Amino acid sequence: PPFAKRLELMRTIYDLHSHTLESDGTLTPTELVERAARMGVQVLALTDHDVTHGIAEAQQAAAKESGLQLVPGVEISVTWQGRTLHIIGLGVDAENTALVTGLADLRQRRNERGREIGQRLESIGVENAYAGARSYSHGDILSRTHFARFLVDNNYAKDVGRAFKKYLSNGKVGYVHCEWVGLEECIGWINGAGGQAVIAHPGRYAIGSGTMRRLLGEFRDAGGAGIEVVCGNNNSGEIDRFARLANDFGLLASCGSDFHGPEQHWRELGRLTRFPEGCRPVWQDWH
Ligand code: AMP
Ligand code: MN
Ligand code: MN
Ligand code: MN
Repeated sequence: PPFAKRLELMRTIYDLHSHTLESDGTLTPTELVERAARMGVQVLALTDHDVTHGIAEAQQAAAKESGLQLVPGVEISVTWQGRTLHIIGLGVDAENTALVTGLADLRQRRNERGREIGQRLESIGVENAYAGARSYSHGDILSRTHFARFLVDNNYAKDVGRAFKKYLSNGKVGYVHCEWVGLEECIGWINGAGGQAVIAHPGRYAIGSGTMRRLLGEFRDAGGAGIEVVCGNNNSGEIDRFARLANDFGLLASCGSDFHGPEQHWRELGRLTRFPEGCRPVWQDWH
């Protein structure tokens, strides 16, 4: 292609990680797509937690935006070696039976966990915690984020970050372990639904470099496709580290903001650190 066209292709803005109020975001799928288009995003993946209900509306909204392509996705809660990991599925068929059934089961577990979180919070004097958190959930999942918003609005914490730190993080009174789906099974759902599995925000897990290498090896051997090398607010040292790891393990590289809503001003759609050179992007075979 001519030079100008090549430049244009190089500048394509991919944001492959975002949420709506179908999970723990605050925008509707239509609002999300419109905002992404305004921010100059050309390829947007909607990746709500354990639910695909927003995809149809997002597709309709994307059809009205000439410059924006929507990738149907999901961010799946996984338990690996006793820890929670998030695995993104990109380009999934949201109607796929195994995926649909598996996600419904995860949402059921979320609900059971939520009841226990509610009881624990009530045991330290937070009234009506379960019903309160429920009222912040506009979709089909109950997230710790909904508890956090409830706690903030009822003056138990100053902001969502502090609500997590004080009540909801691992080790705090409102933290309840939940056994999510296994890594292999999750990759099976994604691949079975025609998608690509990507490890979300690898820098956010508290795991050492040996364990990280074990994870990447197992992930790749189970059919995983890539890792999120560029996430919303990571630094260039982290990006270089995961770019190298992706190449070492023959994995593709993805990028996404993990946008949840305009309230989190430090994470914006399409606002991503430059994609590193020398990585194979997860979209290399997309057309
Ligand atoms: P859950 O999947 O219900 O356990 O909730 C996890 C979600 O909570 C993540 O997807 C984040 O959106 C949010 N979250 C986790 N930790 C924090 C934190 N320290 N501050 C703000 N939000 C957080
Ligand atoms: Mn979230
Ligand atoms: Mn996540
Ligand atoms: Mn996310």
